[in-house]
Amino acid sequence: MKTRAALFLGAGRPLELREIELDDPRDDEVLVRMGAVGICGTDLHSIKGEWERPTPMVLGHEGAGVVESVGSAVTTVRPGDRVVLSWAPSCGDCVDCRRGRPAACVPLHRAMAGGTLIDGGTGMCLDGETVYRGTATGALSEHVVVAERVALSLEDDVPLEDAALLGCAALTGVGAVLFAAKVEPGASVFVVGAGGVGQFVLQGARLAGSGTVFSVEPAAARREQATRLGAAAAVPPEEVTDAMRELLPDGADYAFDAVGEPETTKLAMRWTKNGGTCVVVGLPSGATRLQIDPAEFYRREKHLTGTIYGSEDPAVSLPILLDHVRAGRLDLGEMLGPVLPLEEVNDAIESSLGGSGGRVVVRP
Ligand SMILES: [Zn+2]
Ligand SMILES: [Zn+2]
Repeated sequence: MKTRAALFLGAGRPLELREIELDDPRDDEVLVRMGAVGICGTDLHSIKGEWERPTPMVLGHEGAGVVESVGSAVTTVRPGDRVVLSWAPSCGDCVDCRRGRPAACVPLHRAMAGGTLIDGGTGMCLDGETVYRGTATGALSEHVVVAERVALSLEDDVPLEDAALLGCAALTGVGAVLFAAKVEPGASVFVVGAGGVGQFVLQGARLAGSGTVFSVEPAAARREQATRLGAAAAVPPEEVTDAMRELLPDGADYAFDAVGEPETTKLAMRWTKNGGTCVVVGLPSGATRLQIDPAEFYRREKHLTGTIYGSEDPAVSLPILLDHVRAGRLDLGEMLGPVLPLEEVNDAIESSLGGSGGRVVVRP
């Protein structure tokens, strides 16, 4: 079939809307009419040219939509079902898949670097040439075909714009707190970066019943969101030392780096309390190396760890997050920034690059 997608053609160039060819769903695949797709930092890495990716490529991996048709072997969803996409269509067989971490799957990461799915194909083309898929998904399209196991059922009536955020930022940020760090009630939390993922780390801290929460973020609109989400203070980077000395002079029990650059990880590690835990959540913009004083470990006994996709299988963590949404404990609607039609996808990207307070969402 034909569908309309936003094509990424190279760093610094605007995305272009094109009609592309989509393969029919195979036995174990489903065709989804996308309803909402969030713009994630990972998409921006490609757009800014920080990650090399083949082109043309359909970006977007944080999405929700409605199933239109299913392959003959599909049993878990039916046409008309609303679904959240997981961006980890993994191999199911490697050591990471077997430990319940499909997002860490080695063949999946190889495929993502090459802009394809696990089998090396993409199921998308334009004028006979391959169209690549961002983050093994390619959701910035009116329709997309995905494996049944990554079309996760959304049984209740959470609006699709809200549900889209679950697909990456919420599972990643909330999961970092609940499933990776397992923050205890009363523990203090420091969050570096209050973009989409950082805001969900803050919500995770609230869910965990944490004590004092402190956030550092350069964009004013995002600092406002951080305070609204329970941070005792949210300051620009130049004020972090003074503010921390006042609020948490010994550092925080848990520090989360929602950005993932060496500088931000260093900052998170600096303000991790002795014996505490620093968790890297964000992804760096390129091949980088961390330099850390070994005394952070042997004398101060700090722990440094990381998380991918909330350190849980999305099929397991999504229902847990949906329970929190239904009970009013996890906020999605208030996390939304501008919601724009596919025609305005470039404005959406501009808004996200410009530090929009809420998550920018495109409606394909
Ligand atoms: Zn993402
Ligand atoms: Zn695997």
